[in-house]
Amino acid sequence: MKFTVAIDGPAAAGKGTIARAVAEHFGFAYLDTGLLYRAAARKVIDGMDPVAAAKALTPHDFERTGLRTAKVGQAASKIAALPKVRAALVDFQHKFARSDGGAVLDGRDIGTVICPEAEVKLFITASDEVRAVRRHAELVEKSADLTVDDVLADLRARDARDTERKVAPLMAAADAVLLDTSELTIDQAVAKACALVAAVLVV
Ligand code: C5P
Repeated sequence: MKFTVAIDGPAAAGKGTIARAVAEHFGFAYLDTGLLYRAAARKVIDGMDPVAAAKALTPHDFERTGLRTAKVGQAASKIAALPKVRAALVDFQHKFARSDGGAVLDGRDIGTVICPEAEVKLFITASDEVRAVRRHAELVEKSADLTVDDVLADLRARDARDTERKVAPLMAAADAVLLDTSELTIDQAVAKACALVAAVLVV
């Protein structure tokens, strides 16, 4: 069975949490596509050419520490604007999306570019302030002097770059269902997403 759930949205809106939970609930494979860009960006920080880094990714690159930091996130968003970097990563993502047994992918361009044929498309949002508070709570353990304002500025800069780039910008597919998680608990957001997927699966 081929069944793709495409989950897009801005940074820290809850995509990853929802995508992982949906995949687990339905027994689908899960791919965090942001990790591809972060892992390639980490190699660029080490001095590698961005396109060569994207072409040379191996499973080992996804295990490296520090991939979730704001510094790597910003570097990822810079190389993600390069058409050749994106092109190097398309095939892998599309094959994953259409692999047998169902797949959930989260990112910025899954419903628009990677898998426009996805059976379910969700676009997850939350207010800037809510996203900053959530991401701050995740990051503050490792960087104690980080403020919510620092995180807010970081998210806004990344969203602006991701939205304004010419290739595969962050945007909702015309047929995506919008889910604003600002006022929802994780359980409520996951329940809504699972219900939307279930409604399509049973048809
Ligand atoms: O999702 P995450 O915050 O880990 O993504 C890091 C960066 O990778 C994003 O800011 C974006 O620039 C890029 N990205 C992308 N397309 C995707 C996933 C991530 O451009 N499908």
